[in-house]
Amino acid sequence: MMTSIVCQGCGVTIQTENPDAPGFAPSSALEREDIICKRCFRLKNYNEVQDVPYQDDDFLEMLNQISETDSLIVNLIDIFDFNGSFIPGLARLTGNNPIILAGNKMDVLPKSVNPNKVKDWLRKSAKDLGMKVEDVFLISAAKGHGIEDLSAAIEKMRKDRDVYIVGTTNVGKSTFINRLINRTNGVKDAITTSYFPGTTLGFIDIPLDETSSLFDTPGVIHRHQIAHCVSDRDLKLITPKKEIKPMVFQLNTKQTLFLGGLVRLDFEEGDRSSFICYVSNDLPIHRTKLEKAEDLYRNHLGELLSPPDKITMKQLPEMKTTSFRISENKTDIVVSGLGWITVPEGSVSVTVHAPEGVKVSLRESLI
Ligand code: GDP
Repeated sequence: MMTSIVCQGCGVTIQTENPDAPGFAPSSALEREDIICKRCFRLKNYNEVQDVPYQDDDFLEMLNQISETDSLIVNLIDIFDFNGSFIPGLARLTGNNPIILAGNKMDVLPKSVNPNKVKDWLRKSAKDLGMKVEDVFLISAAKGHGIEDLSAAIEKMRKDRDVYIVGTTNVGKSTFINRLINRTNGVKDAITTSYFPGTTLGFIDIPLDETSSLFDTPGVIHRHQIAHCVSDRDLKLITPKKEIKPMVFQLNTKQTLFLGGLVRLDFEEGDRSSFICYVSNDLPIHRTKLEKAEDLYRNHLGELLSPPDKITMKQLPEMKTTSFRISENKTDIVVSGLGWITVPEGSVSVTVHAPEGVKVSLRESLI
């Protein structure tokens, strides 16, 4: 019975079981004539978009609908979780419509970071993964930084076409859309929810002018995002909220750094060097001797080495190691979703332990 009811706002199938899944409406709402889902209800009544996550298949099907349109895509990425928030095959799925990449959460970058280097890195990382982008912007949806420039670029590049905002969960897409909605004047009446013809998946329609719209698309869960391996409490703790204060550690060879108990970096070989950690200011970092690291991990995970908390420990994937030999310029070892560690120039060998699926990679230092 339930499957035959669709939301009058966005067309998603209504369900009454899971408030966090797409199409939720409380049972009491079923008695109404025009049933709308929680996401459309919030938009209509509070002018506020809420992200609803889709599982991979639905999400891909949904994106594929964009391939039949002539539109501009704005792909939101979390600059702290590039790999976790990157959508493989986005360009193909969206029919090679032009893509603007917007790196969100720039407000937590230390002032010493060169924004142009961040942009270059985003562009290059996207290209390496097969996505050509028209332009890259750094924004803070939360603080409003860079929104004017991005909006102006969208306006210029869309050439009267529709705009689709896409992104995985947790990149800040709702924060971004809500900011866009609030910028539009006469907001309340301007925003409608509308059924996207020919689909059963929820797009939200925010009119831009008489003939075109900005569509919010639901977020997709990427299981290898570190955000999905940790408890809500730990997620709060590892997500930088304020400008990151770099932490400098002078390390001798055969020393180890633990970022909580989530990541371990072993300095295997090289001259005494300073390693600079750019992670959430709330994430405790411990230094120990490499020979003691294994015991410390085994005996103190979840206590001295925390996060993980008890909930995270039950769901955290096994640790996998990646070894790097760094011989060129100052290099960042990037742990997707957590931050990065800058290693000075010189000949350095390190081994990084991180939960399986959490990408560890190198880039030229941003500083
Ligand atoms: P969504 O799942 O993509 O819709 O993401 P949300 O908008 O719910 O944001 C996910 C998390 O990122 C929340 O904790 C937000 O407060 C945070 N967030 C969003 N935008 C920013 C930003 O520009 N800077 C920072 N520091 N945090 C942000």
